[in-house]
Amino acid sequence: MTDTASRPGDPKAPRPPKQEQEKASEEITEVAPGVLRMQLPIWMPGLGHVNMYGLMDDRGLTVVDPGLPGPSSWKALKARLASAGYRVKDIHTVVVTHSHPDHFGAAGRIRKEAGAQLIAHQAFTTWTMDKRRATLSDADAERLEQQAIDEAAHYDGPSLEELPSLRDDDQAAMDDITAETQRMSVPWGGTTPWGGSKHPEPPLSRRLMIRAMRLLFAPPDPTRRVRHGSSITLAGREWRVVHTPGHTLDHLCLYDPENGVLLSGDHVLPTITPHIAGSAQGDALNSYLATLDLVGSLDDVRLGLPAHGHPFTDVPGRVEAIKEHHFERMEKLHEVSEALGPANVVALSHELFPEKHWGVMAESETFAHLEHLRQSGRAERWDDDGTFVYRAG
Ligand SMILES: [Zn+2]
Ligand SMILES: [Zn+2]
Repeated sequence: MTDTASRPGDPKAPRPPKQEQEKASEEITEVAPGVLRMQLPIWMPGLGHVNMYGLMDDRGLTVVDPGLPGPSSWKALKARLASAGYRVKDIHTVVVTHSHPDHFGAAGRIRKEAGAQLIAHQAFTTWTMDKRRATLSDADAERLEQQAIDEAAHYDGPSLEELPSLRDDDQAAMDDITAETQRMSVPWGGTTPWGGSKHPEPPLSRRLMIRAMRLLFAPPDPTRRVRHGSSITLAGREWRVVHTPGHTLDHLCLYDPENGVLLSGDHVLPTITPHIAGSAQGDALNSYLATLDLVGSLDDVRLGLPAHGHPFTDVPGRVEAIKEHHFERMEKLHEVSEALGPANVVALSHELFPEKHWGVMAESETFAHLEHLRQSGRAERWDDDGTFVYRAG
């Protein structure tokens, strides 16, 4: 989710609205042979819709990125399918480009209701509790769960069952969940990988809400996991899987060489730059830049079909523009770091971003750039009592 544009500078002039922010239109268009663009409403900051692509064949329909979990998106999804002459039961395959909820949202439900196969990358994972769970022993997971249950028992507000968030038909509750999800884009309560900046613990009632949210936002289990180079038959022809880590580790694009069409997910968007979250283990920005080059250099790539915004024709041009943006940010960060001397990620992110964007998202993006500078020998890092300190050199 959360494709936050990192906006260079901050000119006073009002910005023209970005196409990724447009509200979901009910219009359905065939954007490539046998490929329908259907827009579903979402509420992520800076985004107005997600494109669910429908790929038609004689067995029915494959959908790519079927929107957010929850009733309003589901209603829109069914309405779009009906306008296109399909029912949920006609969907035989769901492809999810990456593990963000605005992309995998309805996948589990479609899988269940239509018996559809669900395809995602081998590394497909989720950003919610299950990701943390994956690194926990069963005993630890049980202990944490018990702790949460005990906490709930001593809470004298409404019970978990009574919380409005469990009512799937309540829009106000959904909006509440929405707000939590936005806050949850980096889990609260722990230290960030770069140290220092803790997400504040929400009050207990909010934590109960978050637990409820996790039930709703449970990521689906893929029935088929694919890897770089795998072939998938969609709309009666072969598409190649292109693994494109960067925005998330498990991001994939799909390429149809016959028509030069790239389903680009959040990897390449028409006017905004996808969020790159840093990681202490790797160089996420390096992965991102390398796989941008990869999709930009595909033979005869003529049409990009992004997860947000309109179809665009100049894929290599867009790739170059996004790379340019990151190189500029990197140079600016290098300069700022030289001027500031040793500084942590939070301080550096404040130099790089205008105040209204301060926070964990800006920090994780700054962290990604700092790690790239460090791993290309242009900055050094040391650990000051659990907080990374960087100095450009
Ligand atoms: Zn995303
Ligand atoms: Zn997205």
